[in-house]
Amino acid sequence: MSSAIAQNLQHVLALTGKNVSLVAVSKTKPNDMLMEAYAAGQRHFGENYVQELAGKYKALPKDICWHMIGHLQSNKVKYIAPFVHLIHGVDSPGLLKEINKQGQKNNRIINCLLQVHVAQEETKFGFDANEINTLLQSPELATYNHVCIQGLMTMGSNTDNMDQVKAEFLQVKQLFDGMQELNLPNVDPQILSMGMSGDFELAMACGSNMVRVGSLIFGERNYSKPL
Ligand SMILES: *Cc1c(COP(=O)(O)O)cnc(C)c1O
Repeated sequence: MSSAIAQNLQHVLALTGKNVSLVAVSKTKPNDMLMEAYAAGQRHFGENYVQELAGKYKALPKDICWHMIGHLQSNKVKYIAPFVHLIHGVDSPGLLKEINKQGQKNNRIINCLLQVHVAQEETKFGFDANEINTLLQSPELATYNHVCIQGLMTMGSNTDNMDQVKAEFLQVKQLFDGMQELNLPNVDPQILSMGMSGDFELAMACGSNMVRVGSLIFGERNYSKPL
């Protein structure tokens, strides 16, 4: 019989379908659980903490595509720059500049999403719509040869009010659609990363084509245990 993780994965994949990419969010989960998902065919994994991500990259098969989905500090970019597949949480011009620098050092182009702040919570990171437009139009961005901005990422408000979350997702979709008009060498908007375990179906209905699902696949997280 297949494992519970394999069954959960099948369940989520049946809901996401073929046109939406699934990032299995494995933060705080041990390597053997990731390997269960891997054995079931999953190759895209998302992590929030640089040290944990780098450790898992070292230990696990090299054909895994690693997504950095958490808040990233500029001074830690260097630890993931050699291998990261996509950085979802780019939330300041300074961070983007550092990613470009580390991309150059590693002789590669690092794929990024700009994080949009739409949720009500004060604590969530990200740009607002004006800041995104300012960044995309800045002459400096055009000089960054070692990043590719592939789209946007957002987190909806943590609320039961799904109308509010829907309005937030639609706002980000509109911003994403606006990016298609841009003609910049290092901006190639294809990815709209929205939706987690509690809201990924709503996010897909609002145009998301990449969802980040953790607890529905791996179970609830226990933050009190040491990582
Ligand atoms: C933890 C996390 C997720 C996954 O959350 P679940 O509710 O467990 O699906 C998705 N996106 C980000 C940015 C996260 O930090």
